[in-house]
Amino acid sequence: MTTPTAPKAQSNDVVGQIVYALRTMGVAPIPRNYQLFYEAYIGSNGVLTQQLAALGTHASQEELDALAAQHLGTGHVEVIEKAHDKLLVELDNLLRVLRQEQRSMEGYAKLLGETASHVNSKANVSNDIISNAISLLASATSDTKAHGEKTVETVAEHSNEMDQVRRELDEYKRIANTDSLTRLSNRRAFDEKLAAIFDGTGNLPVTALVLADIDNFKKINDTYGHPVGDKILATVASVIRSNVRKDLFVARTGGEEFAVLVEGNTADEVRVICERIRGALETRQFRNSRSGVQYGPVTISLGYSMGSQADDAGGLYANADVALYHAKHSGRNRTIFFNEVMRKDYVGKNWLIYKA
Ligand code: GH3
Ligand code: MG
Ligand code: MG
Repeated sequence: MTTPTAPKAQSNDVVGQIVYALRTMGVAPIPRNYQLFYEAYIGSNGVLTQQLAALGTHASQEELDALAAQHLGTGHVEVIEKAHDKLLVELDNLLRVLRQEQRSMEGYAKLLGETASHVNSKANVSNDIISNAISLLASATSDTKAHGEKTVETVAEHSNEMDQVRRELDEYKRIANTDSLTRLSNRRAFDEKLAAIFDGTGNLPVTALVLADIDNFKKINDTYGHPVGDKILATVASVIRSNVRKDLFVARTGGEEFAVLVEGNTADEVRVICERIRGALETRQFRNSRSGVQYGPVTISLGYSMGSQADDAGGLYANADVALYHAKHSGRNRTIFFNEVMRKDYVGKNWLIYKA
């Protein structure tokens, strides 16, 4: 792959493919560039994907900066870059202090060695020589001790600085993995989590993936306006979050699509969880708290697949998406469990053709 527009079906190692794309396009592997390619790769921003593809096989940093300014918030990436730089400076300072300390200890060891050989080489060592050597060593010992104490202090200061930077980075990592509208995990975090389940590094007891998509959301936006749509999105997110166990992973994976990584031994157990979410939303009143206007029912369709039905993260996501497609196709506001036969008439995310 040389551009970020490669098909998603090959994206089992998204990070690897993006790094490869950066390298082949001669793009610096800095966090901002990575984020730009990532957004384009997962297709969350169609305009960005097109603009990036239009840059061809070599993109200058100025062109990428312009795209970043247009499409990425100024927020966390810049701060992460700064925190990263700060961490490097702190490490550099720490190394310099430790090198000085090493030199000082080497100097002291050399002095000890030289004094010892000097004393040994004299057949008759006078008291003067011995007292000179002792006072020289005493002063060197005291200097070295003072130097050592200063070093301990300086190292502690730099370690505190580094702890602070590390905490900042953790906080920005959390921001980078969170969807700002719904406070759920975002697509980036979801991709990582899903991949981790299959490469064995995830510690979630996940057995199934559920995808949920709000029904006819475009109509809701068109009828009540985008800001109301945003509020409804956030409420749907909280309904999903509060109807599954706290330790389960819930993400907003796209515009009005959500994912839940579910633990359940059987497909029926997972269905119960899906139906609980769907039912909670169906009966939920959506009302403007100031004007009292009712926004009408908001429903979701859900598709799910058991982990055992797929070999990798991409396969599991595709299965759940096929099931979701069938939930839309068969009337919306329902839960469908994936099976292989469904794949036959799956045509991707374009459900519009089924609209009345
Ligand atoms: P379906 O039942 O087939 O899912 O129909 P739909 O109308 O929900 O699906 P469609 O894909 O046609 O439209 C999705 C809409 O979601 C279009 C887009 O404007 C809206 N949307 C996506 N992200 C946001 C967002 O962050 N805020 C708001 N208010 N709307 C959004
Ligand atoms: Mg929808
Ligand atoms: Mg959708």
